[in-house]
Amino acid sequence: MFQFRNIKHYHHDLTENNTTCIDAVQYYLQQIAGAKNLNAFTEVFSDEALQQAAILDEKRKSGEPLKKLHGVVIAIKNVLCYKGHEVTASSKMLKGFKSLYSATAIQRLLDEDAIIIGNCNCDEFAMGSSNENSAYGNVLNALDNTKVPGGSSGGSAVAVQAGLCMVSLGTDTGGSVRQPADFCGIIGLKPSYGRISRYGLIAYASSFDQVGIFGNSVSDIALLLEIMSGGDEYDSTALNVGKWSMSHNQASKKYKIAYFKEALHHPSLDKEIKKNILTLVKKLRSEGHTITEIDFDLLDYVVPAYYVLTTAEASSNLSRYDGIRYGHQTKDNIKELTEFYKQNRTEGFGKEVQRRIMLGTFVLSSGYYDAYFSKAQQVRRLLVDQTDKIFADYEAVIMPTSPTTAFEIGNKNSDPVAMYLADIFTVFANLTGIPGISIPLFKHSNGMPFGLQVMTKKTDELTLLQLADLLLEQQQ
Ligand code: GLN
Repeated sequence: MFQFRNIKHYHHDLTENNTTCIDAVQYYLQQIAGAKNLNAFTEVFSDEALQQAAILDEKRKSGEPLKKLHGVVIAIKNVLCYKGHEVTASSKMLKGFKSLYSATAIQRLLDEDAIIIGNCNCDEFAMGSSNENSAYGNVLNALDNTKVPGGSSGGSAVAVQAGLCMVSLGTDTGGSVRQPADFCGIIGLKPSYGRISRYGLIAYASSFDQVGIFGNSVSDIALLLEIMSGGDEYDSTALNVGKWSMSHNQASKKYKIAYFKEALHHPSLDKEIKKNILTLVKKLRSEGHTITEIDFDLLDYVVPAYYVLTTAEASSNLSRYDGIRYGHQTKDNIKELTEFYKQNRTEGFGKEVQRRIMLGTFVLSSGYYDAYFSKAQQVRRLLVDQTDKIFADYEAVIMPTSPTTAFEIGNKNSDPVAMYLADIFTVFANLTGIPGISIPLFKHSNGMPFGLQVMTKKTDELTLLQLADLLLEQQQ
């Protein structure tokens, strides 16, 4: 039977003729069919993936050297455009909409001979923390079907968690890769803002959105990051800072790490999560790393600032879905234009998306702009300044990824504020543009996994991945 450890081993097995790309794709199609109840995929490209696998097997047999992602089976979040395939952002609004071009991130994977096996379920327009806001229904956590997988990239996380693909793509605007990785017991990376082009990614909040990667090994994630990153003439915010690539850790390196007092002692933080992280801190100190508790008094402002700014950006980004330029059109016979728009949007958008559009419109309205939007921008500036200072002294910051482990389905859905507050540890990296990763180091006595979040200064993914690798290796 086909078995996957990491891309390097898979490529070794392919060149030794121990397996084929067809074997791999058939195996994953079978796994996906057996895990339908998890609702991780919104569409599976079975025939196409098999065809692509056959082509790659032929190429290899003819002696062509393997490209970097030869036959690597990847699932993508349903907000990334893949030419000729439906992309809906898990919204009724975009039902039936086909991508006219491929996102830069997707094209770069395809150029290295990756196989895209399907689209993954997510919260509508990537808004949510539990994957309960999808027009396709919610996704189940494969470890406990009564629990949420996290969100908004819940389907992509479960696709890796349940072994339905080798690696997957999500997006992270406020934690949507790190938090589901935390809830599912896998690795989830959010690169620096701008590291991966946003061209072809359906926008939620453009100054926060970033493509992220789920996987089971740091080396696989590093490889995908290397391939997708770099400047892009279609996205002026895409960073063009040298060619980035993973090099290995010197095992003897000692790190200078900080953690925020306000985070580890936060009243919302589960006691056991706190205890496990503090025990790890002690262990790392005994191994010669410097770990310092520092003050971060802005922590309580991050969630309000995040929700003011992202809803403002969302209200503008989502204005294009009016049923004429894009999206769902009502069947009602309405003659008046504003009424027509209103009905299209009322029918097309789900509750949470409507709530955010209204909130965003409110904070941008002339009477409240200064009190909310400008204020939140000022908070963001302070956060960036303080973060720069911290990274002048420390190489990394560690934090919990989420205050709790995966919660029960339905538990927070009727209380949006409680849901928003649970983003307290992840939105910081998006507000400041720094990279962050959640690594599965711990298991709670309630049976669910949880991770440690590591962050470094902007564009320092190398230190981030090396440190994550070290922490994971020690664990084994
Ligand atoms: N939970 C956050 C929100 O709902 C994060 C979403 C995301 O990162 N896409 O906005």
